[in-house]
Amino acid sequence: MDFNTERQRMVENQLKTRGITNFRVLEAMRKVPRHSFVPPELISSAYHDGPLSIGEGQTISQPYMVALMTECLELKGEGKVLEVGTGSGYQTAILAELAKEVYTIEIHKSLSDKARQLLTALGYDNIEFRIGDGSKGWEEESPFGGIIVTAGSPDIPSTLQDQLTDGGRLVIPVGSRFLQTLYRITRVGDSFHKEAFTSCVFVPLVGEHGWKAG
Ligand code: SAM
Repeated sequence: MDFNTERQRMVENQLKTRGITNFRVLEAMRKVPRHSFVPPELISSAYHDGPLSIGEGQTISQPYMVALMTECLELKGEGKVLEVGTGSGYQTAILAELAKEVYTIEIHKSLSDKARQLLTALGYDNIEFRIGDGSKGWEEESPFGGIIVTAGSPDIPSTLQDQLTDGGRLVIPVGSRFLQTLYRITRVGDSFHKEAFTSCVFVPLVGEHGWKAG
């Protein structure tokens, strides 16, 4: 299977046609080997236009959703980004291509350990990993120029908003357990400007400022 050709096709057919234009985001999506982040039995579907199971009842997000959320962050190559929901580590790798430092939190130890091992093997040295409840953010390392939440939240956690730099952006799916809207919140001084992007379906953000477990 020619994964490189599949990846270039994914960028042309799934991302550019749907309006992803940020050159750096498209370059990162062309570069990161998505097939390394999916379980071996799903490798032939790695570049399909949808999410895939990664174990623990969790998913690696659809390529388009990864690209759209990353584009919404408007990363300029400097500064710190926080990711809540490491999952497979695929989105983490895309962020590590585009930001100086990436901080990523995952609630499932097995997923975090696997992602850490893979990202280290791929040569990424600008990522810090934490196992725990990311709905509380990462206070000691804040403020962040970008925060991305890759799980669906019942509302916008003010703890995360408060960990943004002035001008920083929080990208987060908010809604019910089964259907959400993707929002970008931009901090301007002490106010927060909210924009809605698209409908989406994410696994739940489970934690103190998310959904209760069960
Ligand atoms: N970004 C991931 C990728 O590229 O594979 C997709 C992640 S998946 C859609 C959402 C992840 O959020 C799951 O791995 C889930 O365990 C994690 N999660 C849910 N609630 C969390 C929380 N409170 N803190 C950290 N991670 C959480």
